[in-house]
Amino acid sequence: MNKLGNFICGKWMEGDGEGQLLTDAVTGAPIATASTKGVDFESVLHYARTVGNPALRKMTFQERGRMLRALALHLMEKKELFYNISYKSGATRIDSWIDIEGGIGNLFSNASLRRKLPDETFSLDGDAIPLGKQNTFMGHHILVPKEGAAIHINAYNFPVWGMLEKIAVNLLAGVPAVVKPATVTSYLTEAVVREIIASNILPKGALQLICGSAGNMLDFVESQDVVTFTGSAHTGAALKSHHRIISESVPFNMEADSLNCMILGETVEPGDAEWDIFIKEVKKEMTVKAGQKCTAVRRIFVPENKMEAVWKALVDTLEKTVIGNPLNEKVRMGSLAGNEQRNDVRNQVQRLLASSEIIFGSLDSVQVMDADAKTGAFMSPILLMNQHPFSNTEPHEIEAFGPVSTLMPYKSADEAIELSKKGKGSLCSSIITNNPVEARNYVLGAASHHGRILILNEACAKESTGHGSPLPLLVHGGPGRAGGGEEMGGLRGIRHYLQRTAIQGSPTMITAVSNVYQQHAKGNIDGIHPFRKYFEELNIGDQILTDKRVITSEDITKFADLSGDHFYAHMINTDFNGTMFEEQVAHGYFIMSAAAGLFVDSYEKNPVLLNYGIDELRFTKPMYAGASLQIRFTCKEKTAQETKEVNPDVPMSRGADIPKGIVKWLVEMLDETNELVGIATILTMVEMKNKIA
Ligand code: NAP
Repeated sequence: MNKLGNFICGKWMEGDGEGQLLTDAVTGAPIATASTKGVDFESVLHYARTVGNPALRKMTFQERGRMLRALALHLMEKKELFYNISYKSGATRIDSWIDIEGGIGNLFSNASLRRKLPDETFSLDGDAIPLGKQNTFMGHHILVPKEGAAIHINAYNFPVWGMLEKIAVNLLAGVPAVVKPATVTSYLTEAVVREIIASNILPKGALQLICGSAGNMLDFVESQDVVTFTGSAHTGAALKSHHRIISESVPFNMEADSLNCMILGETVEPGDAEWDIFIKEVKKEMTVKAGQKCTAVRRIFVPENKMEAVWKALVDTLEKTVIGNPLNEKVRMGSLAGNEQRNDVRNQVQRLLASSEIIFGSLDSVQVMDADAKTGAFMSPILLMNQHPFSNTEPHEIEAFGPVSTLMPYKSADEAIELSKKGKGSLCSSIITNNPVEARNYVLGAASHHGRILILNEACAKESTGHGSPLPLLVHGGPGRAGGGEEMGGLRGIRHYLQRTAIQGSPTMITAVSNVYQQHAKGNIDGIHPFRKYFEELNIGDQILTDKRVITSEDITKFADLSGDHFYAHMINTDFNGTMFEEQVAHGYFIMSAAAGLFVDSYEKNPVLLNYGIDELRFTKPMYAGASLQIRFTCKEKTAQETKEVNPDVPMSRGADIPKGIVKWLVEMLDETNELVGIATILTMVEMKNKIA
């Protein structure tokens, strides 16, 4: 019998003893055994902290992002291998697509986040904070990678996505991972990790895998580690209260049971596009992945006068679900992950039956295609109805982790909001409506209890990613019963693996530490215009103080004519009584344009390839005719860019292969009293002498 490997301390090793038998969810045939007996968990975590962590921590965000991209491309090439294994977990091609390509998509998304991060091993967080009237003392926040390991304890339903969505984030942050998938489907996670390790894309120690029990691993967690848990609330609560988690103050992110709900808006009528969208979405949520999704809809709320019509429409569509062998192309719903999981679902449905009745499906019989219902972990979708959702607690508290949902009535929009909250915190909720007032009232009324809310109508239905899809750039997690955790969400996610530290000092010191020029820091004036320097030659703080230009009334009038901006404040003949201004005032955009005229160097070609835009622009004091303008122009921040393949058919890709970087400049616009009249951060693309590797 094949024994799954544990990849620990740089080597594959098999656990001792027979291990847990893992079987094919469709045929019942044995696949492998898994054991972690003999694994020295203390060494596993030590290896992550001492080998993986330093290797990742010294890479910049750009390097880590490129590493994730390479990994995503590599796994994409191997995806068919994973699909072939995934069928054994009962997953159809679509279910597997969510797991496999959804997981790889997470790697791509996180890889792209590098563009929002500096070319440094750390990043600044938020804005600079002036702390002294003389501008000699300031504060900022810095984010540095934690020096521990990310320990991911995952649920069985998404053996690939569950790992990749998590490691994408900790790897981008610069922290290594120890992954413990749920044992029952760990054969698929193991296959993916084998490909990752063989690719040699990750540095040593960046990823370890244990297939089987987590043993006493949590006894060795330390304060720089982060533990994430996805699974049942029961296990989660036990792990969260582990004495080491408490004594070492280890961040513990929990994603647990969630009684997600979908609401049919009061204004939706049979025959409306939204009616069909609702029916389709409920069916999808009940049957995709056989309902074994943390985000699947468990509670369906519909206006009480439409209960019967919804019930009939749902029964009509659920009847058409072809259940069976996921390898058969006609099959739309495969099996559950195993017989034990099916028993759990049946037991939970029995508990739900205390106050609900089954209106579609059966607990003990199911028709299957191309499979044996006795050996495979199949079950039919089960639609329950509960007529008294305010007096019955079961539908709001009992999660049957399979193709099971309960239909319930509501009388008013306020009732729908109240019912949605009876789940005491969920990962996601949807409202299907075309009415903006109804949507707004629901979102503002219910958001406190849900991690994500989807407003679905005809306008977005085609492109919608659906109720059940957590997305890498949106927060995934929910309050209360859903675990109280939060993960993904783009840059928000990586912050779980970074320590935020407030730093204080003089602007010159904070510039030196952060490598980002802070206003009022000492500049480097070396007499060479910074536009004449290549990317590599530029230093943060390189500065010029330009010539002065007197702003005239004629300039202002001409700019008004040229731009067409004849706002009264810029007109010479305006009566300024009762206005904010004393006399004809210069346009802010004219000041900015005149600033460019002062800081741009010459008509000769130089390493500046183009002006890329403005990040921030503020006008802080009016400028009247006769005032003079002078610019302090300072190199603020540099980020190298990767060169891309040139596509001759895409005009904007011209020059894509020129090695270059983005340079941000601080533009301080000063008047003759040396006071700030405006401030901006502008961006240019600057050529490099050498391509980056
Ligand atoms: P589970 O039984 O709680 O197991 C979850 C994970 O915890 C598994 O890897 C399991 O390992 C491990 N585990 C169990 N006892 C442990 C211990 N004493 N020490 C360390 N690890 C331990 O949950 P499940 O049955 O796999 O998953 C189904 C549940 O997960 C459902 O309730 C569902 O709502 C929830 N879920 C939530 C989300 C979400 O994002 N919120 C996503 C998916 C699933 P073994 O497999 O080796 O026991």
